[in-house]
Amino acid sequence: MAVALLVAAGSGERLGAGRPKAFVFLAGRLMLEWSLEALRAAGIDDIVVAAPADAAVGGDIVRVVGDELALGPGVTVVAGGAARSESVRAALAAAAPGHVVVHDAARPLVTPDHFSAALAALADADCAIAAAPLTDTVKEAGPDRLVTATLDRSRLWAIQTPQAFRRPALERALAVGDDVLAQATDDAWLVERTGGTVRVVESTPANLKVTTPHDLRIAELLLADRLSRPSAP
Ligand code: C5P
Repeated sequence: MAVALLVAAGSGERLGAGRPKAFVFLAGRLMLEWSLEALRAAGIDDIVVAAPADAAVGGDIVRVVGDELALGPGVTVVAGGAARSESVRAALAAAAPGHVVVHDAARPLVTPDHFSAALAALADADCAIAAAPLTDTVKEAGPDRLVTATLDRSRLWAIQTPQAFRRPALERALAVGDDVLAQATDDAWLVERTGGTVRVVESTPANLKVTTPHDLRIAELLLADRLSRPSAP
């Protein structure tokens, strides 16, 4: 059985919503509730949420900007850390045994299939990560903005979450100093640097990460569209 770590401790400064990003309302729900629903629909009921340190309360209750919110059965709230991977480490310490799936609450368009596919790919890898093939051409440029290389797009992937892990591989990867954790933009990199195998699992750009007000607007439109369909939950 798998456990999920839902990281939601970011401040959301670039979004500028006046409250932590994962706790912004989006198509009628808190942003992190979309991911909770997708996890439960994938059969993953054991979920640890890393919330902002000044918001975390405990049990399944979180208090954000004056609102006290119950996130539902099976959820444990812990305080996150200063860097994203520190939040992952704090959540892992509170998680039950089993494979681990890590997901950013900032990706509310995730589907149950993303979780199932990542977990299935652990059959022959230490870590399996959702990723979309690149559609833009990617170039490297120096500080002077002069292009130094054009990369082979056919081998490049834009990495998302969910990221699934065999638990010993994630524990080994996170057993590093806070300076290393602060450099990590995803946890799969931490597995790579400790010699673990990482496999990409094809996703689509629709599983976008909300960073800016523009992303929030797109996510709002896509989720409202999902709700308007007859098969909507
Ligand atoms: O900042 P960014 O959007 O890349 O963060 C990705 C995810 O990591 C978000 O869901 C955010 O809440 C979470 N995060 C965290 N702890 C931090 C920083 C980010 O849980 N210290």
